[in-house]
Amino acid sequence: MKLCHNQATTLENSNLEKDLELCEKYGYDYIEIRTEDKLPEYLKSHSLKDLQAFFANSSVKPLAMNALVFFNNRNEEDRQALLDEFKQTLEAADAIGASYIVAVPLVTEAKILKEDIKTSSVDMLTELSDLARPYGIKVALEFVGHPQCTINTFGQANEIVEAVNRDNVGLVLDCFHFHAMGSKMEDLQKADGSKIFIVHIDDTDDFPVGFLTDEDRVWPGHGAIDLDGILSTVFEKGYDGAISVELFRPEYYKMDPDDVIKKAKETTEEVLEKVGADARA
Ligand code: ZN
Repeated sequence: MKLCHNQATTLENSNLEKDLELCEKYGYDYIEIRTEDKLPEYLKSHSLKDLQAFFANSSVKPLAMNALVFFNNRNEEDRQALLDEFKQTLEAADAIGASYIVAVPLVTEAKILKEDIKTSSVDMLTELSDLARPYGIKVALEFVGHPQCTINTFGQANEIVEAVNRDNVGLVLDCFHFHAMGSKMEDLQKADGSKIFIVHIDDTDDFPVGFLTDEDRVWPGHGAIDLDGILSTVFEKGYDGAISVELFRPEYYKMDPDDVIKKAKETTEEVLEKVGADARA
């Protein structure tokens, strides 16, 4: 199993350069790079060529660019701006060798019918698929387990990805988001395993469905998520992609990033050992 660091885990106590150094130190295979903040911050004092050179000489590789945010149900002006942003992200992903771009659905107070969410999401993901195809890059839809997110369960996200029906469009399965809005295990069981591109591992304090926020995330194995159930189902489907640790815990942002990246690896490996997946394979 390949281990990945998602930069959210050290969002407030590190930067891309430091994260890369620590990923190497602790033997991570991959990093997910935050395009909203951590990459622009890095590019103030470095170039994409520097990043390209790092990955060419390191055992750590870039997994995904994270993320194209609020991609669906936007007005035409916003849609064009998102397409421009996506094209730039494709160029950057291609330059450094990242395989995926994560797409995050719109979060809004507005009530939009599921049918309209699906239509807009399918249209946009199809357009992103066309743009990404020449690069050999894949688009991974990440549903968000929050009441105000337009795509907030695994079943809803999977239905959209099935309707898009493209080899280069699939899902991010984030265990927190799966748990947080009560996604159904049977929806995961009947899903096409080849459509799961990335797994985000995490855990959470035990608040009710609909109350959970990203800040409630805790070390994998230290919370209320049925990680055994989710991960064993994913592995039974033949998932052999990366397991990416993604936490947003304010307490962990007060720690030394060295300790966070070390602990994130240790706790993830303990969970993976329990489900019978070899974290070092
Ligand atoms: Zn995630």
